[in-house]
Amino acid sequence: MSATQSSALRTLLASIERSASAGDDPLVVFDLDGTLYDNTHRTMRILLEFAHTHASSYRALYERLRETSPGHLKYRVADTLAALGFPDPELAQHVTTFWRERFFTDDYCLYDLPLAGAVELVNRVHKAGGVPCYLTGRDAPNMLVGTLRALQRDGFPVGRVETRLILKPSFEMNDDAFKHGVIAHLRKTGRVVGSFDNEPGLCNLFKQSFPEATVAWLDTSHAPGAPELQPDVVRLNDFTELLAGEAT
Ligand SMILES: [Mg+2]
Repeated sequence: MSATQSSALRTLLASIERSASAGDDPLVVFDLDGTLYDNTHRTMRILLEFAHTHASSYRALYERLRETSPGHLKYRVADTLAALGFPDPELAQHVTTFWRERFFTDDYCLYDLPLAGAVELVNRVHKAGGVPCYLTGRDAPNMLVGTLRALQRDGFPVGRVETRLILKPSFEMNDDAFKHGVIAHLRKTGRVVGSFDNEPGLCNLFKQSFPEATVAWLDTSHAPGAPELQPDVVRLNDFTELLAGEAT
């Protein structure tokens, strides 16, 4: 654990306290996919569903997927299939379409599991007086209900006056443009003291927008072609590293 990781939570909690005693809402922004939630389980479930319902046509894929774990998945479905020994572009197209029809929906986001330490960390922040702001590129028409159910099921503080849940108004809206717009709004409604995201570009954006905030990058998976992470962003594999740091 680096010195920055071990002190990051203490720094964040001190900022929350300072901001709250100054009468501001201390906002801590949490991305969902790849940050608080490990959505590889959702993709794994969809790939298995394809395999089980197409086993007579794709027997070898069925056998292979049944012995694959979520940790072996690539960012793109086609890359996962190729890595498993199925490079056929037509099959990749077929499976990708099947995946896309299910991945961005209420029902399937319930297959996600929280990243290690995520539930404890958000509750720690909340208990200290921080306002968790779940800010996600998921769209409200297709995913609000499932997102809310998962957050509540897993024990994240949600649906209370001192929490916020912010989804995109439409599926088509670009994720980066959406988060840029939300940042402008957050400035007017509180003080952003912390931000957690798995996309290096968004971490850099938060660090530039809120230089005093604790900004952390989750090294889970991210879109290909991401920019270099700014040096003053904390790097984490999961949230247990932060929780361990507070105890030392
Ligand atoms: Mg994400």
